[in-house]
Amino acid sequence: MKVSVIGATGRVGKAAAFSLAEESVVSEVVLVSREKSLSQVQGEALDMNDAMAAKDIRVSITPTSNFEDISDSKIVVITSGVPRTSEMTRMDVAVPNAKIVAEYACLVAKHAPESIILVITNPVDIMTYVAYKASGFPRSRVIGLGNHLDSLRLKNLIAKHFNIHVSEIHTRIIGEHGDHMVLLLSSTSIGGILVKDFPQYQSFDVETIVDKVKNAGSYVINKKGATEYGPAFAISNTVKTIINDEKRILTLTTYLDGEIYGVGDVCLGVPVKLGINGVERIIGVKMNDKELEDFITAAKTVKKAKDEIMATLEGEINLSK
Ligand code: NAP
Repeated sequence: MKVSVIGATGRVGKAAAFSLAEESVVSEVVLVSREKSLSQVQGEALDMNDAMAAKDIRVSITPTSNFEDISDSKIVVITSGVPRTSEMTRMDVAVPNAKIVAEYACLVAKHAPESIILVITNPVDIMTYVAYKASGFPRSRVIGLGNHLDSLRLKNLIAKHFNIHVSEIHTRIIGEHGDHMVLLLSSTSIGGILVKDFPQYQSFDVETIVDKVKNAGSYVINKKGATEYGPAFAISNTVKTIINDEKRILTLTTYLDGEIYGVGDVCLGVPVKLGINGVERIIGVKMNDKELEDFITAAKTVKKAKDEIMATLEGEINLSK
């Protein structure tokens, strides 16, 4: 299976490409960069090839600035975006990134019309909406990654607090990949037992934990300039789930049309059943009153911001839908 990564000289793009190249289900990785970054992306590809030889992995790694090279990709990952410093919110980069994502989504629709688009660029919930509208693809084939990474970060924190293997933790962050993320505490379990039934739950400070997840990206950016391995492995995880038709339930950004408490015309992170055709089903989650209230707030906030950005872009970008 062929997977393309756009923005491949970026820190997330190259780490994702490297992680994808290692996956046995991926036979070709196309590293797509702007013309001005072509030399750098060629260097990245050569370096990755050496690493793959060291690991006895046979995979084709193609650096390019020509979108014709993405044809027949099963999945195209869009990571391009203007840089965000630790003082900037994801919303500060929304307008310039929307233009970039819209342009690339149109090129993907032209050159890889059967592919699945996986959007990484922030603010990812709005960028997924932009890619959905610009590509004209069915919503099942336009997915955003945000809450999956947040949920992995949360799993780590819970595993540490309860001193239990991370694979035993079943939990989810839904809503916005940003300030309005919602922890589904009511359905969080460890080894099949509700988290609230564990004795250490007394000292489990939910607000602090949620704050840590919210600020995890900025914290890393502050320390080392960017997040790389976390997003990269969350991306390869998602790609593998699709290519293997695993039917796993991941929390990904998808276009909602009223499936969850009537929320519609917005892209948000929700649990989805993921298979070879992308989103096969949106899983209607049961929430307690507080979770529902927070989810509705997330929906309203993202929708308002999305409407503002779409209005700003009107006439500037080509939208198929
Ligand atoms: P980065 O290192 O700054 O790389 C971004 C890449 O985008 C650049 O290397 C460049 O790639 C391309 N680019 C930059 N300016 C551009 C422009 N004006 N037009 C077209 N392409 C441009 O950023 P990063 O750390 O990799 O992060 C990439 C994006 O992912 C950001 O929006 C970040 O916030 C987001 N992110 C999302 C998640 C998530 O969970 N959703 C997690 C981490 C990061 P080429 O020169 O190769 O084309």
